[in-house]
Formats: sequence, structure tokens, C-alpha cells
Amino acid sequence: MAETPHQNADRAPARILMGPGPSNIHPRVYLALSRPVVGHMDPLYFQAMDETQRRLRTLFGTRNELTLALPTTGMGAMEASLVNLIEPGDDVLVGKHGVFSGRMTGIAERCGAKVRELDVEWGRAVDPAQLEAELRRHPVKLVALVHAETSTGVVQDRLPELAKLCHAHGALLLVDTVASLGGVPFHADEWEIDAVYTGSQKCLGVPPGIAPLTFGPRAEEKLKNRKTPVQSWFFDLTLVRKYWNEERVYHHTGPINMTWALLEGLRLIDEEGLEARWARHTHAAKALHAGLEAMGLELFVKHPGLRCPTVTTVNVPAGADDAKTRKVLLEQHGLEIGGGLGPLKGKTWRVGLMGEGAQGNHVLLFLSALGAILQAQGVKVKAGAGVEAAGAALNGR
Ligand SMILES: *Cc1c(COP(=O)(O)O)cnc(C)c1O
Repeated sequence: MAETPHQNADRAPARILMGPGPSNIHPRVYLALSRPVVGHMDPLYFQAMDETQRRLRTLFGTRNELTLALPTTGMGAMEASLVNLIEPGDDVLVGKHGVFSGRMTGIAERCGAKVRELDVEWGRAVDPAQLEAELRRHPVKLVALVHAETSTGVVQDRLPELAKLCHAHGALLLVDTVASLGGVPFHADEWEIDAVYTGSQKCLGVPPGIAPLTFGPRAEEKLKNRKTPVQSWFFDLTLVRKYWNEERVYHHTGPINMTWALLEGLRLIDEEGLEARWARHTHAAKALHAGLEAMGLELFVKHPGLRCPTVTTVNVPAGADDAKTRKVLLEQHGLEIGGGLGPLKGKTWRVGLMGEGAQGNHVLLFLSALGAILQAQGVKVKAGAGVEAAGAALNGR
């Protein structure tokens, strides 16, 4: 077969990224990446750090002083948050309803915590009554939850209530917003979330490699009262923050170009407006959901209110070849979607609408390509009806 532009990495193929991250990048962010490297103690770089910090506060919906970005990915920010908030022997509760919450357990255990898991059916969110009963039975110092579970496509829809319960029972609340921040409404201060982290490559539309986080007053109190040093030197926020605040103590060489990129991504978010951006994600997701259902496919998350706009899980229909479908989408259409994770491997596809990629044209292209591929495999789907329903939803009909 003749080589296509999609098959040569050196030619930097322009993929349509509709997996659960990374997502497509705005040209201005690519330009920002190519700005010159300056020193990590250059006053110009400090200016960029300050502006980044200010814009991150707006994005998180917080006034927290301790707000910064680490040179790592979402997983690194998860680890950084947990190592700072946990001391050996602490009781920790993780709301488990997917792969990413499961990873929180793994890290918390390595921090020496006594971890309990609140088991929630995959495809559902943590229920406040269930959390309250658990906290009554077993008080903990920290509760960790995932806002958008990328493995199931569920959004944790009752965070403000859950936060109140945590505080009523003397626990801090840490929330993972790697797949939601910038795409789904989130207000750290108003919702009283004590610590939050995210990544760059999902709804912020920045390449992977820089990960923002914020710690509020209760989390700061925990840092101050620790009896043991944070087990990770690199992720010890009491050290990192001295590079970000006016002390400007060298901690690591700041990821200069990734900071240019993040800053440009944050400026783009500001230009669009956070509310308009959330609305764009919802609008595209509604069209995708309408299209998939009209096509005759089944969404994995049954309750519409729990479907996260940024990542949609759809059941692989009977008779379809999971891996082959994704391969053809990628090789013939330059379009990436994700396969199922963990127990959902082979059973679901994960379709991301994140950042720049949360657009109607991506939805229509994906639906028409998927319809054609499934029909070629002999799977009975109503391909035309899917595209029509999505088009109608996009036009507000
Ligand atoms: C993607 C993701 C992560 C991990 O982020 P990486 O950037 O891949 O390290 C963590 N949590 C959630 C909910 C995610 O979707």
C-alpha cells in the first residue's frame, strides 16, 4: 500500500485527536512553543510564571496562593498532590469508579496511607448518602475523587455536596480534574475543594508535559502541620512554591517552552471565555450523543446527567471489530479515538471532545467515518440517521 501522510511520523501528521487526550493544539500554542529558551531565573520568565499563576487561579476558580504548574503530566500532579497531603498511617478514602481513581489508591498506599475504597458501580458517580455512611463508619483525613473519570465517561456531578460532607467529618477533599478542567464547569473556592490538579493536554489544549495544581487553606494547614517530610523532594510543594513566589529560590529548571505554551493556552481560554468554552464542549457532546444513539449505538453511561461532555463512552456493537475499527479510523481518516480501559477493554470506545477538538465538524466527521467502517464490517447501523441527528443537534433542532 502506498505510504500516506498519516503514516510517517517525521511529517508530523495532522491527526484529529478524538481520544481521551491528548487533544488538538491551536496554532498559536505551537508558535508559543517555538519562542526562544530564556534562563529559568530570567525576570522575563518570572513574569510569565506570575501571569500563568494568575490565569490558573481564574481557571480553577480560586484565590489560593499555592497555585502553580509542575513539569510533569496529570499522573505526576496526582502523585504530587497525594504525597503532600498524606503522612504515613493516615486514613484515606478513595471514591472508586474507574481506572484513574484506582491509581489514586495505588499512590496513597505507597505514601503509607491506610486506604479504603468506596466502591461505586462503573458508569455511576459517588452518591453523597453513600459517602456520608462511609465517613460515619470510618473517619478519614483525606477523601480523593475524580471529577471526570476518563475510563467510564462519568462526571462527578455533586462535588459541592460531597465537599461539605468531607468537611463535616473532618476530612480534606482532593479532586482530579485532568479530563475536565477547562471543558466542564468547576469552581474550587465556591465548591470548597481543598486541593485540585489537572494536566495540560486534555481540555486546556496544550501539549502534554506541564501540570497545574492548587491547594487551599485546609490543605495548607495540613502541609504546615506535617510531622514527617514529604517523601518526594521534587514534588515537595513547600520547596517548589519558593520558586513560584517572590523568594524565587531555584528548585528545578523551569520548563520554559512548556510554560510559554501553557500561558498561550490560558490566554486563548480567556479570549473565548470560560463559560462559552464549557458551553461549546456541551454543545458538541450533545450532538455526538444524539448521533451515536440515532445510529443505533448504545452509550455506556445510562444517566444523561452523568455523561461527561469531554469524554463519551460508547459500547462496541455486536459484530464489530474493536481494534480494526480504531485502526481504520486512524489510518484512513487520520482520526484517533480510544479503546476501553481496564475491565471495559474491548467493550467500549472512548471518544474525546476536549479543548480545540470540541467542535461540531469533528463530531460529523467521526460519525460518518464510523458509520461507513461499521457498515463495511456488516454491522447494521443507521449511519445516515446518525449524521443527520448530530447535524440537527448542532443547529439547535
Ligand atoms: C489522563 C488522566 C490522568 C493522567 O494524566 P497523564 O497526563 O496521562 O499522566 C489522570 N486522571 C484522569 C482523570 C485522566 O483522564
